Amino acid sequence: MDRIIREENISLEDFVPLKVHFGEKGNKTYIHPENFNGIIDYLEQNNKKTAFIETNALYKGQRMTRENHTKIAKEHGFTRVPVIIADGERGEDFENIEINKKHFKNCKIGKKIADLNQIIVLSHFKGHTLAGFGGAVKQLAMGCAARGGKLAQHANSKPIIIPFKCRACGACKANCPVSAITIKKWAKIDKDVCIGCSSCQTICKHKAITSNWLQSLSMSFNERMAEYAFAAARGKNNIYITFALNITAGCDCEGHSMIPIMRDIGIFASTDPIAIDRACLDKLRVDVKAIFWRGIKTLKYGEKIGLGSMKYELIDIDCM
Ligand code: SF4
Ligand code: SF4
Repeated sequence: MDRIIREENISLEDFVPLKVHFGEKGNKTYIHPENFNGIIDYLEQNNKKTAFIETNALYKGQRMTRENHTKIAKEHGFTRVPVIIADGERGEDFENIEINKKHFKNCKIGKKIADLNQIIVLSHFKGHTLAGFGGAVKQLAMGCAARGGKLAQHANSKPIIIPFKCRACGACKANCPVSAITIKKWAKIDKDVCIGCSSCQTICKHKAITSNWLQSLSMSFNERMAEYAFAAARGKNNIYITFALNITAGCDCEGHSMIPIMRDIGIFASTDPIAIDRACLDKLRVDVKAIFWRGIKTLKYGEKIGLGSMKYELIDIDCM
């Protein structure tokens, strides 16, 4: 971070919060706060104030309200600096950022993030059922959106049940964060209630829940995410630091433990959210890269709308 600040002539604001993900209750592979101590030390040495900043999750769980979200942050060790939930108690506190793009004219960004000139976006690089992978762009898009903004991004991405594969075991129903699933002879998803979070797909052991590929082919979810990332980063002098450690197939929003699917790669830093995601993607083992590759749609569209560039030069720094 020191080198990127010097070489890119970044001037730090007096208050520079760290955009983090506290990890859902039960998740073990989120990036643990000890990893951020060096960054906090650096800010303190430079007389800058900081905090952990996050927005409420869309679905049921420990991170849906400010009160519970703050509790889980403490339980997961995020205690060194204050915790700020940027979109209020339940996502009601946001600012409409005007972008006038294909999918959104305005984006609902958590007010306390929208008000800032600079954040340090700390991301965990890992897989994501719907997005392909999650890194800096997703941390901006979903991570900075108020709950209504998260819903707007998900609106077009709802899974479907394959009845002949379904064993009516009920696991999907038990884990659906918004109670959108009923079980009779087979599971049925109420499309009006479903928020498209995709958890049921990861839960079903019988591969009876699949993406609606016709909708996915429209690339709409990835494009919506890129537009929200554009809104969240707009006008900000951000720094992006991505931890390509604990690389799991699933997201930190999943409240269960997962086993990494490849070795750790390292920690990346950039001022460009598209470049840093592309660099992480390129460093994946070839079979993992093939699984995550769907996310390239987000980067291509993000590049097209001016969020950043996929071109990068990777400079190795040995910190030991
Ligand atoms: S988890 Fe799969 S098999 Fe079980 S009820 Fe849901 S869709 Fe059917
Ligand atoms: S995607 Fe599945 S788990 Fe998520 S809200 Fe819809 S039905 Fe429920």
